[in-house]
Amino acid sequence: MGLVHEIDYGTPASKAEKQITLSVDGFTVTVPEGTSIMRASMEAGIAIPKLCATDMVDAFGSCRLCLVEIEGRNGTPSSCTTPVAPGMVVHTQTGRLKDIRRGVMELYISDHPLDCLTCAANGDCELQTQAGVVGLRDVRYGYEGDNHVFKKMDGAENFKWMAKDESNPYFTYDPSKCIVCSRCVRACEEVQGTFALTIEGRGFGSRVSPGMHQPFIDSECVSCGACVQACPTATLTEKSVIQIGQPEHSVVTTCAYCGVGCSFKAEMRGDELVRMVPYKDGKANRGHSCVKGRFAYGYATHKERILNPMIREKITDPWREVSWEEALTHTANEFRRLQYQYGRTAIGGITSSRCTNEETYLVQKLIRQGFLNNNVDTCARVCHSPTGYGLGQTYGTSAGTQDFDSVEDSDVIMVIGANPSAAHPVFASRMKKRIRQGAKLIVLDPRVTETVDSVHAKADYHLPLKPGTNVAVVTSLAHVIVTEGLFDEQFIRERCDWSEFEDYAGFVSDERHSPEQVEKLSGVPAEKIREAARLYATGGNGAIYYGLGVTEHSQGSTTVIAIANLAMLTGNIGRRGVGVNPLRGQNNVQGSCDMGSFPHELPGYRHISGDAVRDIYESLWGVKLDNEPGLRIPNMLDAAVEGTFKGIYIQGEDILQSDPDTKHVSAGLAAMECVVVHDLFLNETARYAHVFLPGSTFLEKDGTFTNAERRINRVRKVMAPKNGFADWEVTQKLAQAMGLNWNYQHPSEIMDEIAQTTPSFAKVSYDYLDKMGSVQWPCNEAAPEGTPIMHIDHFVRGKGKFIRTEYVATDEKTGPRFPLLLTTGRILSQYNVGAQTRRTENVVWHSEDRLEVHPHDAENRGIRDGDWVRLQSRAGETTLRALITDRVSPGVVYTTFHHPDTQANVITTDFSDWATNCPEYKVTAVQVAPSNGPSEWQEEYEDLSQRSRKIATLEAAE
Ligand code: SF4
Repeated sequence: MGLVHEIDYGTPASKAEKQITLSVDGFTVTVPEGTSIMRASMEAGIAIPKLCATDMVDAFGSCRLCLVEIEGRNGTPSSCTTPVAPGMVVHTQTGRLKDIRRGVMELYISDHPLDCLTCAANGDCELQTQAGVVGLRDVRYGYEGDNHVFKKMDGAENFKWMAKDESNPYFTYDPSKCIVCSRCVRACEEVQGTFALTIEGRGFGSRVSPGMHQPFIDSECVSCGACVQACPTATLTEKSVIQIGQPEHSVVTTCAYCGVGCSFKAEMRGDELVRMVPYKDGKANRGHSCVKGRFAYGYATHKERILNPMIREKITDPWREVSWEEALTHTANEFRRLQYQYGRTAIGGITSSRCTNEETYLVQKLIRQGFLNNNVDTCARVCHSPTGYGLGQTYGTSAGTQDFDSVEDSDVIMVIGANPSAAHPVFASRMKKRIRQGAKLIVLDPRVTETVDSVHAKADYHLPLKPGTNVAVVTSLAHVIVTEGLFDEQFIRERCDWSEFEDYAGFVSDERHSPEQVEKLSGVPAEKIREAARLYATGGNGAIYYGLGVTEHSQGSTTVIAIANLAMLTGNIGRRGVGVNPLRGQNNVQGSCDMGSFPHELPGYRHISGDAVRDIYESLWGVKLDNEPGLRIPNMLDAAVEGTFKGIYIQGEDILQSDPDTKHVSAGLAAMECVVVHDLFLNETARYAHVFLPGSTFLEKDGTFTNAERRINRVRKVMAPKNGFADWEVTQKLAQAMGLNWNYQHPSEIMDEIAQTTPSFAKVSYDYLDKMGSVQWPCNEAAPEGTPIMHIDHFVRGKGKFIRTEYVATDEKTGPRFPLLLTTGRILSQYNVGAQTRRTENVVWHSEDRLEVHPHDAENRGIRDGDWVRLQSRAGETTLRALITDRVSPGVVYTTFHHPDTQANVITTDFSDWATNCPEYKVTAVQVAPSNGPSEWQEEYEDLSQRSRKIATLEAAE
C-alpha cells in the first residue's frame, strides 16, 4: 500500500457532548451524538468499504459502497451520511450488502481501464484496494474504460478538452480513470474554497471539469493540490509520481515559504523526493497546502544552485572556486583584519528569516560573542519590525495573539493591509470557510484584492483607503466606537489602565478623527467607516489579521498600535475567535525575531542594556557583551558609505533586491571590503560579494521554524546537503575559524541552549516537539503545553496600554511630477523576491511583474493593456508592462516585486517607519508613461544576469 491515502473515517464526530450507544456487528460502541455510522464502526474497529468518503471533506453518500443494514429500518442507507441513534443495531457485512457492493464495484470497474500494472497509482489506488475488499473477481460488462474521455457530449469541439489534460505543470488529469466520486470537486470547494471544479454531463458521460470546459491551466484552479490528494484513483496524479514512481518512505517537515508554516510529509523513493503531501496532523494547516509548499520545491535541485564556496579579491574579479577550509579561513582572517584596522564595530551581519531558529541563533551569537558587537539585524527590519514595536508597547510582547484554529470562532474578521488569498493561502482557505459559514468580512486595502472579491467570498465592507492613510482610518473606527458608546467598559476597567483609556477616548473623540473628516484624506466614504466600526464592535467575536500593508509605512508602528487599541477597546482579546494577528511573510520571520536578530535585543525580546539578561549569556559564552544596541541594516549601509563599516556576513537574504532604495544599498555594499553572502544562488547581493558560501535548503537540515502563530515546528532532514554542510554547520565552522570554541553536534543542542537561556522557550526540546507535534511559545513551566491564545487573564505587560495614534501624513507626496501613488504586493504562485519560485514551474503563472493601472489613468496617458510603461519616482525608474484593471482605484498603481529585472525597489524611497526604520514600501509617488521597452539598466542587468547564470551553470556542470 502506498503512502498517500490514510484511513478515512467519513463524517467527523460532532462537537455535541451527548453520548450515544449502539451495536455494530455485535460490538457495543459509544460515540458522541451526530457521529456517522461509518465513524462509529471505525471506533469499533470495523472498516466499512467506501470510495467517496474521505476525512478531507464532508460526507456525500454517492458511491453506494458503504451501505449498511439497520434493524427496524428499511433499505440500505449509506453509513457515511447516516448518524447514529440510541440503541441502533447495525450490520455492515450481511450477504445482501456484500452482493450489492460487488455489483456496484463491478460497474465501477467496467468503466475503468484495466491497466493496473502500468498505472502510476498501482499500490496506492483506493479503487484497486476496495475491489479486493469487496471480493470482486470477475467483471461481466466489458472494460470499455474510456467513458469519460471520448464520449461526444454537446458538440465535436468538445473532443479536445475531453482528452487527458497535462496542462498543469505539476499534475495530470486522466478522465478515463475517473469514477466520478466528486472527492476532488468537494475538496476544491470545502477545503480550498476555490470552486474551480464541477461535474458535468450525466451517467457514463459525466466527468470532472475545471471551469467552463477549460484545461486546468486556464481555469480558476490555484494548484493547491487538494484535488490530487483527494482523488482515490490515478485520475489526478502528480507528474513526479509518474516520473519517479510510488514513494517508499516519508519524513514530516515544515514548509519553507510563508509564515503559515504548513506541515508536510516529504515522501521519498530512495534519496529522491517524490512529492510533498500536506500532513493531516499539522496543526497550522490541518492537511491543506498551497501551490508553493506542495509543488514548488524544484529549486533545491536547480542547476543554478551554487554548491562550492567561492572567493574573489575584488568584485570585478571572476569568482574562484575554493575549498570550504580556504573560504572560511579567508573570511575569518578578513573579518579580524577589518576589526583590527577599523575597529570592533566595523563589521556585522544579517540573519535570515528563511533559515531555522537554530541557524539564526548562531548568527547572532557569532556577532555578539565573536564580533563582540550588536551589529545584527534581520529582514524583519523591512517587514514586521513595527509589529514588534507596536504590540510590545501595548500588550507587552511582539507576536500574534491567536492560533489559526481560532478563526473558526470568529464572527467578524477584519483584514487590514493583507491579501491572505495570495500571500497566506492556507489560512485564507480556513478564513473563507468561516465566511461561508456566516462570519462577516471587513477589508481595509487600497486594492480590490482576491480577499475583497473572489467568486465565492466577498467582503461585507471594503474600505479602499488611499495608501498612507491607515492610521487615520483605523483611528476613525475607534472614534465611532467611542463616540457611539460601543466600547467594552468592563473589559477596559478590568484589563487596561483606565486613566490611559480616558486620555485615549478623549483623543479619538475629537472631530478631526470623525469619519466625515477622515473621508476627505482617505477617500473612504464616511458611512462605510461608521458601519464597519459598528459591525466590528457589536458583531460578536472580532478578529483582526494584518500584513505588510500596515507595517511598511512611515507610520507602520502607529498603525499597529491603533489596531491593538481597537481590540482592547472592544474587548476582542484573550479568547478564541478574537485577537490581533500579524500575518508573517516569510516562513521563519517570527523565529528570526524571537532569536535575538535585532541589534537591541537578545533572544526572547530582552533588551541588550539589561544587566541580568547579559549576565546569562556572558557567563555561558565567556565574553563581555556590548550593552549598547548595534546598527540596523540601513545604518550599516549608511556607515559603509561613510567609510566606518567594512564587512558583513549575510545569511539567506538578498538585500539588494529586497531592501528599499537600491542605489543606496549598492553604494553601501560596494564600499565594503568584505561582503560574505551565504545563500543557495548567486543572488543580486552576491554581485557585491567577495566570498560566496553555498547554502542548504530546508530539505537538507534539521531545525525548527516558528510560524505566525508562534508555533515552533520541526524541520527534518530529508536528504544530505548537496553543498556538503547545513547552514548551522557553516556558521559553526566560521565561528571556529574565528577562534570560538563551538562544538554543537546536532541542532537539538542549539535548541537546548536556546531553552536554557530564553524563558519563553524553557520547555522546548526536540524530544518534546516530537512528542507534542509542535508547540506555541511561551512554552515553559507556567505553560507546559504552550500558549495557543495569549493575554487570557492579563496582558504580558500587566495592564493593556492605550496609546494615542496621531495621524501624520507621509513626506512622500504626490504632485504634478509624480501624481500617482505606487503600492506593492505579492501573487500566489511567487514568493518574496522570487529566488526560489522563479526556479520552479511556478513561473508559468507569473513570468513577469506587471503594473496595474486604473483604466481612467491609463486612458489619460495613452496606455493600453500589455504596453511597456516607464514607472518613475524621485528615487529612480524602471519599466514593465501595464495591466489595465479597476482592481486599483484611480490615482493608485500597483505591482509585485518577484522579478529582479523589474527591481521595483529601484523606485522606492528611503522614507521609513519612525520607530523601527521599516521602509515605506507601500507609498511611493510616481509617474507612469508609455515606453518602448526595458530601460538601459534593465538591459544591462539582463545581460549581466544571463552571463552570471551561464557561469554558475557551467561551474555547476564542472
Ligand atoms: Fe503553507 Fe505558506 Fe507553504 Fe503555502 S507557502 S504551503 S500556505 S506555509
